Amino acid sequence: MKVVLLNPGPVTLSARVRQALLGPDLCHREPEFAGLQHAIRDKLLSVYDLPANDWAAVLLTGSGTAAVEAMIAGCVPRGGHLLVIENGVYGERMRTIAERHGVAVGTASGPWLAAPDLATVDTALAATPGYTHVAVVQHETTTGRLTDLAPLAAICARYGARLLIDAVSSFGAETIDFASWPVAACAATANKCLHGVPGTGFVVCRRDAVATTPPRSVYLDLGAYLRAQDAGGTPFTQSVQTFYALDAALDEFFAEGGRAARRERYLARIGAVHATLVGLGVRPLLADGERSCVLHAYELPAACDYQRLHDALKQRGFIIYAGQGRFAQEIFRISMMGDITSDDVARLQAALVEILG
Ligand SMILES: *Cc1c(COP(=O)(O)O)cnc(C)c1O
Repeated sequence: MKVVLLNPGPVTLSARVRQALLGPDLCHREPEFAGLQHAIRDKLLSVYDLPANDWAAVLLTGSGTAAVEAMIAGCVPRGGHLLVIENGVYGERMRTIAERHGVAVGTASGPWLAAPDLATVDTALAATPGYTHVAVVQHETTTGRLTDLAPLAAICARYGARLLIDAVSSFGAETIDFASWPVAACAATANKCLHGVPGTGFVVCRRDAVATTPPRSVYLDLGAYLRAQDAGGTPFTQSVQTFYALDAALDEFFAEGGRAARRERYLARIGAVHATLVGLGVRPLLADGERSCVLHAYELPAACDYQRLHDALKQRGFIIYAGQGRFAQEIFRISMMGDITSDDVARLQAALVEILG
């Protein structure tokens, strides 16, 4: 039986991406590796049409959190000051990362069910000595909230603060206006909206935004990766097979129409499932207009606890995702990333009707 992953990464792989894992053995000190790495870095910039003289993609062997950690440790200079916006698990994780690296950090925290409070951010940025950087999660996967970054970017621009974006579950599907917003960097991973294999994370950064000397980390030293990769090398062994898979996934991404097409496809899939669930009386956690195209969260119906719903769906070939933290017993989440066909969606709809109807 085909297993369809509806959890927010890792995702169901296409045959082409899986096959790419079987590429030839390759030493990461050989020119063939340099070519592969170069191609992936170029394609990652192409996802958002970024010019290579101002922007760089930096590839890391690690999960999305490694990329977020490298971004924060590598972009907030010594003497810099970071404001982290928190309304879910991933915002809180960014604060912890900053603290562990000794970055001077303040927070603008709000309830998990609310959008970030812009007035709080404005007040924080207006204080002296002021913040150099603001870290925000674009798609807070905890609840499925897509934060509208445009007004936040405007506030940051007014105070001269630069944005560090956790775009781990949005890069490749949601809009990031790199040209107009004061973005220093964003962090993401191969195995969410880009449909690659887990094991490669990356930071897309402005070349002039990678600052910190001396570096705060050995393995996650963003500047060291940037310099080595520009020269065709890598400071450490990379996960070569995962690179093959990401390269194939990016080719597939562009062949399927790029970012706008991916977003449309996610919206069509999740819209269909949403209609079925709402028809069954299941309530979405967030209001219309607040949800991402990637993942929706729903309140568990009174008659069905998470384990029962999970197990019944798993029996039918679908893996859903529980809530985190205080939502662990209250919600379930369905993500639409990965190689999911319209037939899979139809079978999922039928399974939901069978289980919850
Ligand atoms: C998945 C995710 C991460 C990182 O998760 P890893 O397990 O380290 O890949 C970070 N932020 C967000 C918003 C995510 O959805």
